[in-house]
Amino acid sequence: MGRMKELFIQIKEQEEAQEIIEQASVFDSGILCPNCQKTNLIEYSAEDLYCEVCGYDFIRIEGNHIRFK
Ligand SMILES: [Zn+2]
Repeated sequence: MGRMKELFIQIKEQEEAQEIIEQASVFDSGILCPNCQKTNLIEYSAEDLYCEVCGYDFIRIEGNHIRFK
């Protein structure tokens, strides 16, 4: 019984880790905030980006080019 529970917890943790990775790849635009340069911008959608640290909103123009909203 103990062994089964251990295994179950392991699988559960792996699923959670996978979810975190998937969410991170959706929200992290990979673009460094041009205002504070402390963190990558969070991506709401293909065009809307946001900095968690300084709170500025940005718009993606094309590729990795962005401008202040
Ligand atoms: Zn910032």
